[in-house]
Amino acid sequence: MTVTGGRLSDSEFRELVDRARERHSISDIIGRHTSLKRRGAREMVGLCPFHSERSPSFEVNDTKGTYHCWGCGAAGDSIKFLTDYEGMTFRQAVETLSGNEFPVISDEERVRRKAEDARVMAERIAYARSIWARTVPATHDTPAGIYAAIRGIIHPLPPTVRFVMAPRWINPETGEAGRDHPAMACALQDVTGAVVGVQCVFLQDGGRRKYERVRDDGTKAKAKLSFGQIVGSALRLGPVRPHLINCEGPEDGLTLAQRMPEQSVWVTCGTAMLSRVEYPAEVRSVCFAGDNNAAGRLAVSQAREAVLAKGLIPSEVFPPEDFKDWNDEWRGIRA
Ligand code: ZN
Repeated sequence: MTVTGGRLSDSEFRELVDRARERHSISDIIGRHTSLKRRGAREMVGLCPFHSERSPSFEVNDTKGTYHCWGCGAAGDSIKFLTDYEGMTFRQAVETLSGNEFPVISDEERVRRKAEDARVMAERIAYARSIWARTVPATHDTPAGIYAAIRGIIHPLPPTVRFVMAPRWINPETGEAGRDHPAMACALQDVTGAVVGVQCVFLQDGGRRKYERVRDDGTKAKAKLSFGQIVGSALRLGPVRPHLINCEGPEDGLTLAQRMPEQSVWVTCGTAMLSRVEYPAEVRSVCFAGDNNAAGRLAVSQAREAVLAKGLIPSEVFPPEDFKDWNDEWRGIRA
């Protein structure tokens, strides 16, 4: 099948592109260039083919048909990979995907995978809710309250930010989990306001520091871990309003909410999720408050495009030049 033959309407063309994209597992396409290791039912991770690295920060998701690098920000779908990495034109990429160069997924298999993915996500959400159910208010004497105070957050924390004892790792295959550690727990709500996930910021020294550990291979263990559905969801520090401020990282969000009490600030789970939030219909405009680095600026430009495509009005704001993020600026800590 070629794309070039007949005359196609816009919608026929779009359908053709969607069909081409859905015919293959994106991991089969990317797996020819970097070796990918399975990390969940449909998630894989490997060394980024777009930049040089020693520990894998490149994620590939067959459910969503997307890739994302936490190191250099490279992200997209199978067509984008073929154009960016293999140097194809858009048309060549669509033609390649329409052909039989890659293993093709049968319709049956696609339906089976969808059902399986829905089941896995439902389980993850249930687990996240079980964590949220055991949170307690983050009063000033809990590690979460102490951590917030050290970060310069003097206002009482909103009800969506609480204290919890939660495991720092769980094995998605076996359900096995590590032992509990103190954390600041942030509720992640979906477009309807239902809690579908929890982001935990793990703490040590009674909350005086974020949990920090250097692994044997010299890499840093992450202080944050998210449970449940992080795509599309957000931590709401304020109510649904026609205008929202959106940033990534609860510390920045709490800082902004405190400085601008008249505004409603929402927070996503990591830079990449900034462009994936699903906003309720009441929301008309979103101001993205980014981090002052390449990844932060890239995330904001992607998020602006994403909300424009939904018919919302985007704007952006960054901390003054010598500050890394909003919380550092608030505390006067220069980069
Ligand atoms: Zn990369």
